[in-house]
Amino acid sequence: MKTLGVYIHIPFCKSKCLYCDFLSFPEGRERQALYFDALKKEIEVCSKECKEYLVDTVFVGGGTPTSVDSDHIVHIMELIKTHYKLAEDAEITIECNPGTADFSSLKAYREAGINRISIGLQSPDDVELKMLGRIHNRQQFEECYNNARRAGFTNVNVDLMGALPGQTLEMYENNLDYILKLDTPLEHISAYSLIIEEGTPFYDMNEKGQLHLPDEDTERNMYHRTKEILAGNGYKRYEISNYAKEGYECLHNIRYWKCREYIGFGLGAASFLKCRRFRNTSDFSKYTSYFLSLSSERNSEMKADGTGAFVREDFEELDRKALMEEFMFMGLRMVSGVSVREFEERFKTDIFDVYGNVISKLVEEELLERHGEFLRLTDRGLDVSNYCMAEFLL
Ligand code: SF4
Repeated sequence: MKTLGVYIHIPFCKSKCLYCDFLSFPEGRERQALYFDALKKEIEVCSKECKEYLVDTVFVGGGTPTSVDSDHIVHIMELIKTHYKLAEDAEITIECNPGTADFSSLKAYREAGINRISIGLQSPDDVELKMLGRIHNRQQFEECYNNARRAGFTNVNVDLMGALPGQTLEMYENNLDYILKLDTPLEHISAYSLIIEEGTPFYDMNEKGQLHLPDEDTERNMYHRTKEILAGNGYKRYEISNYAKEGYECLHNIRYWKCREYIGFGLGAASFLKCRRFRNTSDFSKYTSYFLSLSSERNSEMKADGTGAFVREDFEELDRKALMEEFMFMGLRMVSGVSVREFEERFKTDIFDVYGNVISKLVEEELLERHGEFLRLTDRGLDVSNYCMAEFLL
């Protein structure tokens, strides 16, 4: 049976962080309830186009899924279990921000079958947190983390952000050290650099010279020290920014990097299904009014291939060439690289017939290497991954 990942977008946050360009915003309880009614309808009506799939990963992301009434999330999980074939050992993740989840809500998520939690700490330094516009402090993170463990979460990720304004290498290393010294060691760490996105308050501040970001050398040193320190503490780097203890790699994200199918529910959620990419509208009123107006009789408007859903936009039919390109540049993000055998199985052609010249060139430059049935970027290749990946465009 084919497998599928399900992404569920919860676009609500208590307030907006100063660097954030995600589709998220504060909203009152009534509008949140309206959104969940629409989301439930979407999950129900889309089940028929997913009949032939076994769902083996679910990711409830945002936004801040833990900022809404936990009953909403519990109902969503019930719907998934009722309308989809959910693998018994499915990985089910929820994103959480400290200060938005207490013990009882964390327990409710766990009881609803959610077995992985990803906590957006970003920094354990209260001054840095405030500067980022985060709503929480270190103490709230500690309460949240301990409550998650008490509620039974045995697979926990923490997001850590580096290259923050005014941050030195030493300050960053102290932050890393802090998350490594938690009473119960983390199973997974995502360590990213801050990126200044257009349209955010940080972008404007940076334009005015008010941000004082670390220079490129300091940022590179943070990146290299992350690799060394985490490796020394038993974390295997399995993707450019992701590290895990053996057996705790995030299966949902691996699905994205391996170009496997997923369906996204909720405002702005992206899907890759049956060789097509598309995304839901980001217009709150359009999204909610469409699904709330679907009566049971009109459910048939939604055809098995999804074409009846007028909230879906940006359809892109991926031809064989585009699929090969994506397979390469997404797959090479992973430290294990891409499987030569899988390429042949998917595209019925030898990878060396398509990419022989590029592969030879990158091997010669010591940026790519063969390891068993895999082609993978070397350490140096991962450092300049954008350059390497661009070489695989046909
Ligand atoms: S909590 Fe996350 S999604 Fe919400 S505003 Fe901050 S960075 Fe954006």
